[in-house]
Order: sequence, then structure tokens, then C-alpha cells
Amino acid sequence: MSITVTNITKTFGVQKALDDVSFSIKKGEIVGFLGPNGAGKSTMMRILTTYYKADNGNAEVNGFNVLTAETNVQKSIGYLPEHNPLYLEMYVKEYLAFNADVYQVPKSKIAAVIEQTGLTPESHKKIGQLSKGYRQRVGLAAALLHDPEVLILDEPTTGLDPNQLVEIRKLIREIGKEKTILLSTHIMKEVEAVCDRVIIINKGKLVADKKLEELRETEEQIIEVEFDYRVEEQLLNQLPHVSSVKNIGGFVYEITFATSKDMRPAVFDFAHDNQLKTLQLSRKNKNLESLFSELTH
Ligand code: ADP
Ligand code: MG
Repeated sequence: MSITVTNITKTFGVQKALDDVSFSIKKGEIVGFLGPNGAGKSTMMRILTTYYKADNGNAEVNGFNVLTAETNVQKSIGYLPEHNPLYLEMYVKEYLAFNADVYQVPKSKIAAVIEQTGLTPESHKKIGQLSKGYRQRVGLAAALLHDPEVLILDEPTTGLDPNQLVEIRKLIREIGKEKTILLSTHIMKEVEAVCDRVIIINKGKLVADKKLEELRETEEQIIEVEFDYRVEEQLLNQLPHVSSVKNIGGFVYEITFATSKDMRPAVFDFAHDNQLKTLQLSRKNKNLESLFSELTH
């Protein structure tokens, strides 16, 4: 396992930031750590990077215990903090050279991470002259310098414009081919775009831990349809993928399908084949987004 978290609890005063959280992450996984603001994401990441100590429980990174093998844990992790403190007056290469010294890695590594993170066209500039997207690349480059096994990225796309967002996500997926990544976000779509798995926390508690594949398979859609006449629910039940049918008043029916394929055409054809007229037809998706809001409200 690249990361193992066992019953971690962390309290600030009376505020329980993390409440008995456990999970583990296999080598090579890209895991989204999803939760609303204040859920405890950054706190967990700071515990994993050894910046905070948990009140209870334990954690291991790359086989090293966060309490007893701090230095080895830090060597195993590339960390991009939430508010990445970059020195705006420093040149990109100067900043990376400074980090190379801190990590005691040879300066020859710098060119490789500049290339890897797509910084080449901006690498002669001062950090203060870069867009937010390029500053994040500098942060990622610094995190990659010592070639860590695990990357911990705290809201790496927050504050980026839509183009930068797409680029940074692409870069993270690229890096994820070789590393284990734990990435926090409050955006479900981000998880869908980048991750293999999602761990959802809310108010310090773990509320879901699922593979994206698994979530997609169980994806449901609800179609609300109004006909011009009554129809036997049994008949509607014969439509493919139906999991339930409910008459919600008049000739209006709510049909739940266990598939992500759009079933509106099938419902429309059904009406036609049964000499019914379709007066209204609408689709509501019970997708990942709604799962997230269900779990965190
Ligand atoms: P997230 O990153 O999911 O937005 P955080 O881990 O930053 O959430 O915060 C979780 C909870 O812990 C919040 O209620 C926050 O106010 C509290 N908290 C985090 N860090 C500290 C701290 N250093 N001192 C006091 N409270 C903190
Ligand atoms: Mg945070």
C-alpha cells in the first residue's frame, strides 16, 4: 500500500476536523479526496505529510509511519499545499534550484521536471510574472524534484481559469501514470476527469469510498413522463433497464432506469406503440454529482 490511514481523529479545540477516518490507497492509484469546504481534507493531508500530528490513529506512507519515520515519509511524498507558497521575486529555475538544495537532489533534475510539467516556455521568467496555471506547474515541478512515490495535491486546480484547469488536469493524469496520487477537491467533476477512485468526507467523517467504474455502473436516471391517458404500471415495467415505476399524479409517471444510456427515446417509442401521446418528457440524472450532494447535505 502507498498510503494507509487507520482510525485517524484530529480535534482543534472543540472542532472535530477528522473523526475516525480509515482508508488505504494502492500503488499507482489516482484517488480524489472529495468534500465540501471544512470537511477535513487539508487536515488529513497535513497529517500524511507529518505537518500535523493526529490525536488518535495512525498512518503510513510508502510503508513508513508518520509518527516514527517522519523523514522517510517526507522523502516519499511530493506535496502541493493548498495555498502554495511560491516566492514571486524568484526566477523559476532559481526557485527549483532552491528546492533541489532543500531536498538534496542534484541540479541536473531541474531540467527534467521543467520539461515534464510543460514549463519550458516560461522557465526563464520570475514566478510573479506567471499565470496561476503556470505557478501551479512550478509547484508541481518542485513536488516532483526528489522523484517521490506519492503525490499529495491539495486543491491543485482551485482558482484556475477553464483552460488552465483542463491543462493541469491533463498534466496530473500524465504524472499519475507513474505515481500514486491523492488529490483533494470540492468538485465532483474534477474527480470524474482525473481519478480512478473517490473518497468522500463530510464533517470529518468518511462517507464513501468507491471506484469510479463502480459508480458509473450504478448510475441511475429518472424519467418523468406525462401521457394523455392512463397506462398500466406493469406495462411500463417491461421497458429495458427499469428499476421502478411510480404514478405521481394524473397521467404522470416517474420511471427509474438503472443505466446511463438515455432512455427518453425508448419511453417515447413505448408511448407511440401503445397509442399514447407523450405530453411531457424529462430526464433527471442520478449521477455522481447527486450522490455527492446526497452524502454531504
Ligand atoms: P478542508 O480542507 O476540507 O476545507 P480543513 O481540513 O481545512 O477542511 O478544516 C477542517 C476543519 O478543521 C475546519 O472546521 C477548520 O476550521 C478546522 N481547522 C483546520 N485547521 C485548523 C487549525 N490549524 N486550527 C483550528 N481549526 C482548524
Ligand atoms: Mg482545504
